[in-house]
Amino acid sequence: MKVSVVKADNYNIEIVDKAVNDAVNLIGGWQNFIKKGDKVLIKPNMLTNVTPEKAVTTHPEVVRAVIKAVKNMGALPAVGDSPGISNLKSTAKRTGILTICEEENVPFVYFKQSKAYNYMEGRFIKQFELVDCLSDFDKIISVAKMKTHVFMGVTGAVKNLFGCIVGTDKARFHLRMQKHIDFAHVMVDLYQTIKPTLNIIDGITAMEGQGPMSGDVVDAKIIIASSDGFAADLIMADKMGFDAEAMPIAAAGIEEKRIVRLKDIKVVGDGKDEQFHFAKPHTYKSMQDTYVPKFILKLGQNQLTSKPVINKNCVACGRCSHHCPPKAITIIDKKVNIDYQKCIRCYCCQELCPHQAVDLKDGLILSLLKYIGIYK
Ligand code: SF4
Ligand code: SF4
Repeated sequence: MKVSVVKADNYNIEIVDKAVNDAVNLIGGWQNFIKKGDKVLIKPNMLTNVTPEKAVTTHPEVVRAVIKAVKNMGALPAVGDSPGISNLKSTAKRTGILTICEEENVPFVYFKQSKAYNYMEGRFIKQFELVDCLSDFDKIISVAKMKTHVFMGVTGAVKNLFGCIVGTDKARFHLRMQKHIDFAHVMVDLYQTIKPTLNIIDGITAMEGQGPMSGDVVDAKIIIASSDGFAADLIMADKMGFDAEAMPIAAAGIEEKRIVRLKDIKVVGDGKDEQFHFAKPHTYKSMQDTYVPKFILKLGQNQLTSKPVINKNCVACGRCSHHCPPKAITIIDKKVNIDYQKCIRCYCCQELCPHQAVDLKDGLILSLLKYIGIYK
């Protein structure tokens, strides 16, 4: 399996265009993936309505480069997503992606309605409710953002496909799959159901720390491409300086023997030797249950995880309360309260808060394990 990593200094239109095309040419060229007349859905990461320099969403110039390449193949591109939270239209505008679509005269598809898609080999899910228009397209290209993720460790090409689940339907998956590894198995099933033709990750600016929304912007100056989203994500996590195969989605795929191993990936491109040391999400170690003796696990799962705590930035907007899957958040007299007995530690509140008002605080046992050195 091949993954290309190509350097790109900034979002200058020519630089991005060259980097995206070089990255795809190194893994066989566009003709390997797209045929004349194909209807192609380009799926960027449009998590919420923020501007591109926040590194929360795929940069519009990367989307533009993919649109142009697909058009050059004589195919018919469209761009679409369903943000987890904010209004579709305002997100499309604020992220700059709607403007790019208008300039390139390409339709932007608002994901609104769902329909059932079967995946009988699924380990956890044999039928997904996904955006209805998915089946109208011949090919799908996942155009993701290189970021850390407080629940999944990292988010790249595979997790990007979670946006094909329409709007707030996403919360149901957090309710059903409360453990990192269970949710990760669902992501493996989701990827196999959608099976993108091509995966491109925008890592020109990336996010470290408390991603996917409240982390810090970091310049990695790379574009990653592969026909295999798991391989692209493994290399992305490895470049971040993380234990790539221990990230929950990779660990789930490896356990199911469904994904390539890191050692079997051939990395090509002028960025292949780049190495970074991204700040890890606060929850990084608690994702790896194998570090924890079983008797401690039994003692109290919640004490082994970080819990969300509201800080002084809170303006009581209610977004977290509205989207909390088990309805553990209430707001009374403009004060946010979290019922920790109900809280399933999905960190949607931390992910979705527009004011960075949710901190993650270690549970008692997790603090103790860090203190005595089992977790570092
Ligand atoms: S924590 Fe954030 S999302 Fe929740 S009410 Fe406060 S500002 Fe809004
Ligand atoms: S309070 Fe936050 S972490 Fe807990 S269940 Fe609700 S959204 Fe998830």
